Amino acid sequence: MMAQYLEIRQANPGALLFYRMGDFYEMFFDDALAAAQALDIALTKRGFHQGESIPMCGVPVHAAEGYLLTLIRKGFRVAIAEQLEDPAEAKKRGSKSVVKRDVVRLVTPGTLTEDALLDARRHNYLCAWSEVRDQAALAWADISTGELRVIPCPLSRLSPELARLAPREVLVSDQHDRDLAPIAADMGAALTPLSRGSFDSVSAEKRLCALFAVSSLDAFGSFDRAEVSAMGALVDYLDLTQRGKLPLLRPPVRETAGGAMQIDFATRRNLELTQALSGGREGSLLLAVDHTVTPAGARLLERRISAPSCDLPTIRARHETVRFLLEQGRLREDLRCHLRRVPDIDRALSRLALDRGGPRDLASVRAGLAQASAMHHLLQNAPDLLTEAATALLGHQDLVDLLDAALVAEPPLMARDGGFIATGYDTELDETRALRDEGRSVIGKMQADYAEASGVSGLKIKHNNVLGYFIEVTTTHEDRMRAKPDLFIHRQTTAGQVRFTTLALNALETRILNAGNHALEIEKRHYDSLKQAILAQSGPIGATARALAEIDLASAFADLAMAEDWSEPTVDDSHAFSITGGRHPVVERALKRQGSGPFVANDCALTDSSTPAIWLLTGPNMAGKSTFLRQNALIALLAQAGSFVPARAAHIGLVSQLFSRVGAADDLARGRSTFMVEMVETAAILNQADARALVILDEIGRGTATYDGLSIAWATLEHLHETNRCRALFATHYHEMTALAGKLAGVENATVAVKEWEGDVIFLHEVRKGAADRSYGVQVARLAGLPQSVVDRAKTVLEALEKGDRDGGKQVALIDDLPLFRAAPAQTAPARPAAKASAVEARLQDIRPDELTPIDALRLVYDLKQLL
Ligand code: ADP
Repeated sequence: MMAQYLEIRQANPGALLFYRMGDFYEMFFDDALAAAQALDIALTKRGFHQGESIPMCGVPVHAAEGYLLTLIRKGFRVAIAEQLEDPAEAKKRGSKSVVKRDVVRLVTPGTLTEDALLDARRHNYLCAWSEVRDQAALAWADISTGELRVIPCPLSRLSPELARLAPREVLVSDQHDRDLAPIAADMGAALTPLSRGSFDSVSAEKRLCALFAVSSLDAFGSFDRAEVSAMGALVDYLDLTQRGKLPLLRPPVRETAGGAMQIDFATRRNLELTQALSGGREGSLLLAVDHTVTPAGARLLERRISAPSCDLPTIRARHETVRFLLEQGRLREDLRCHLRRVPDIDRALSRLALDRGGPRDLASVRAGLAQASAMHHLLQNAPDLLTEAATALLGHQDLVDLLDAALVAEPPLMARDGGFIATGYDTELDETRALRDEGRSVIGKMQADYAEASGVSGLKIKHNNVLGYFIEVTTTHEDRMRAKPDLFIHRQTTAGQVRFTTLALNALETRILNAGNHALEIEKRHYDSLKQAILAQSGPIGATARALAEIDLASAFADLAMAEDWSEPTVDDSHAFSITGGRHPVVERALKRQGSGPFVANDCALTDSSTPAIWLLTGPNMAGKSTFLRQNALIALLAQAGSFVPARAAHIGLVSQLFSRVGAADDLARGRSTFMVEMVETAAILNQADARALVILDEIGRGTATYDGLSIAWATLEHLHETNRCRALFATHYHEMTALAGKLAGVENATVAVKEWEGDVIFLHEVRKGAADRSYGVQVARLAGLPQSVVDRAKTVLEALEKGDRDGGKQVALIDDLPLFRAAPAQTAPARPAAKASAVEARLQDIRPDELTPIDALRLVYDLKQLL
C-alpha cells in the first residue's frame, strides 16, 4: 500500500494528498505534519518507512468538506485519491492485492463547486493571463456557474482587471510567474504557474473546439492568439484538476475593453465597493445595496457594481426597468415572492455536470424552472429588458413535468442514500421497495400458503444468521413435509425441530436481501437519466437562470430605491456632474443603525459649462469631507451600474474612469512607505485620467513634510486642471490651496460647515461654497480626549503661529518666544531635568497643530510622554 501511496504522491506534487482508506482520507509523511497543524487534528504514526515511523493523520470522509475548506483558505491545494474498486475486487486478485486508487480531483481555490466551500452570493473566478508576441489577454471562468469570458489585457491593465474580478486563483505561464506574483499577492489570489505547453495557442484552439464541439472558434466571435491561449490554459487546468471531467462551460464571450467603467484596485479598496477596508462585507457598498433574493441575483449585483456600464442605451434601459418595477409595487412583490423560491440553478447545474451533484441538485433545477414558468405571465407589458428576460423563462415544461413525476418533494443530499424517486414513477422500483419494506408480510403470506399445502398448521417461517429464512415444524410433522419432496427441501434437524426451505423461499430471501440494493441501483439509474435529461438542456436552462438573475437584480434595485427613497439619475454624454441632496449609502446606513443623527444630504455641482470642473474642499477633520467625496463617486458608480441613486436628483455625464485616493493610508503591511504608496497611486491617476474621468483625491500630500505635501497637492491639482481636464473633488487641509480657486477657471472652493459653540466645535456636515475659515484641529483634538493641558498649550502655540503668519514673521523665532510647554498641571508635575524639557520643546517646534489629524495629535501625545 505504501508503494502505491508513494507512487500517487510523486505523481501529484504541490498538493496535499488525501488518500482514501475506507471511511477516512489519510495523510502521511510531510503532508500529515502540515495538515495536522493546519487543521489542528491529532498526528499519529503508522508503520515504518526506511526505518523511521511514518507520521499520519486523517479526516473522516463524511466531514471532509469542512477540512477541505480550511486547507484551501490556508493556501493549500488538495489532491483527492479515491478507491477505484470495491475492496472485494482486490481480494479476488489475491490476499495481498491493494485496492486500486488514483487521484480523481485536485481541489484548488479557483476550482471549487461545493456549496459548503463557496460563498453563494459571490463569484469564484479562476483567471488565466497570457501573452503571445505583442498580444495579451485575460480569460476567466467560474466553474460553479459555467461563465467563460476573455478580454484583451496588456500587463499594464492586468491589475485593474484582476481587481474587478477578484479571482481566487490566477494561472500564468511559468515564464511570467515573477511579473504576476506581486499583483496576485495584492489581490489575495493564489498564483499557479503552468508549463508553457498549457498556453500553446495551437493546442489551446484544438482543446476549445473539442470542448464546445465546434470545428472553429469563429462560431463564438473572433479571438486573437493570446485570447485563445488564455482560454486554452483555463481548460487545460480544469482538465488537470477535474481529471477529465470538464465542467459545463458556456461558450466564451469576448468582452471589449472600455465597455465598463474603469476602476483600479486602489479605488475599489478605497471606496469599499465589495469589501470594507477592514476585510469583511460589513461596511461595503455591496452589502448596503444588496436587496436581491437569489444567490445568482447577488452575484450579478456584484458583477454590476464591479463593472458599471459605459454604454448609455444599456444604462438607460436598466433605469427604465427599475422605474417600471418601482411603480408596479404589486408586480415587484409578486416577482420577488416567486424569486425567493428559486434556488441556485447555475451551481446545481455545474455540480451535475462534474458528477459531483445529488438528488437535491435535480430538485433545485426543477424548483427554479417551475418558478420561472410561473413568473412568465407577470411580465407581459413590461419594458424590453423584462420582456426579453420573460421569453427565456419558458420552454422547460416537459423537463419540469418529468422531474415532478420522478422526484419526491424533498430529496436527500446523496444519490447513494436512495429514497428520492417518487412512488408511482417506476413499477419495478415500487415493487422492489415493497419487497424490501413489506418483506415480512410477504413471508407471512407464504407461511400461510405452506401451512395449507403441508397441512401443518403450526408451520413457521423463521430467520437466523446461519440459515437465513427457513421453514420450521416440530419433528412430529416431519413426515407431512417429506411427503412433498418437490416443494420442501430438508435443511437441518435439531432436537424436536426439523427445518426446510423451498425454492420460492430461497428466491424470496435473495430478493429481500437484494431488494434494498436493487432499489438503490434502480434509483441510481433514474438519477443518471434525469441528470442527462437536465444536462441535455443545459444551454436553455442556463439562459433561464440568467434571466431570473436579471429580474431579481432589477426588482432588487427597485426595492432598494423604494426602501431608501432613491431617485432615478439622468446619465448622458455631457460632462455634467450635478447631484442634489446626495447621501452616502453606507455611512447613512451606519448612522441609522447606531441611532445617531440623520445623515445630512449635500449637493455637488461641478459646472458643466467649463471643463474641467474641480471642487477644492477644505474643512476640519471629522467634518465629513471624505464622506462627501466618496458619496459622489458612489452615486456615479451606482447610476452606471443601472441602479437608482441616493440623491434627490442626479445628472451625470458618462464617467469612463473612476479614481479615488486617500493620502497616507497606513500601508506598512505591504512593506512600502505610506508616502511612496500615495505618490505611486497619484502618479497612476495623473498619467491615466482622461476628460471623462471622475477623480476623488482625499488629503493627498499628507504623508510628507508640510511644505513638500502642500507643493505636491498644489501641483497635482494644477495638473488635473490643465492636463487631465477631468472632473475632480479634492479635499485638503492645506488652506493655502484655496487661493487656487482665484487662479484656475475650473476650480471652486467648497467647505464643510462647522459651528463653534463655547469653544467646542459642532459638525454640521453641510457642504457649502467657499473656503473654510479655520481648521478647528485643536477643538477636534479636545473631542478626541487629549488632556486639557495639551489642548491649552496647543491653542497658545496655534495663536502664536497664526500671529506669525499674519505678521509674515519667522515662526521658529516666534516659537522660541513662547513660554515653556507645561504638559501637566504645575502642582502635580514632577521636577524634570532641563535636557528632557528641551527635548519636548524641540519636538513641539516641529508641530503645526493646524495640520494635525486627531490620530496624529494622539500619537504626538504618546511621543511627548516618551520624552518625559
Ligand atoms: P473628514 O474626512 O472630514 O475627516 P469624515 O468624512 O470621515 O470626515 O466624516 C466623519 C464622520 O462624520 C463620519 O464617520 C460620519 O459619522 C459623520 N458624517 C460625515 N458626513 C456626514 C453627513 N453628511 N451627515 C451626517 N453625518 C456625517
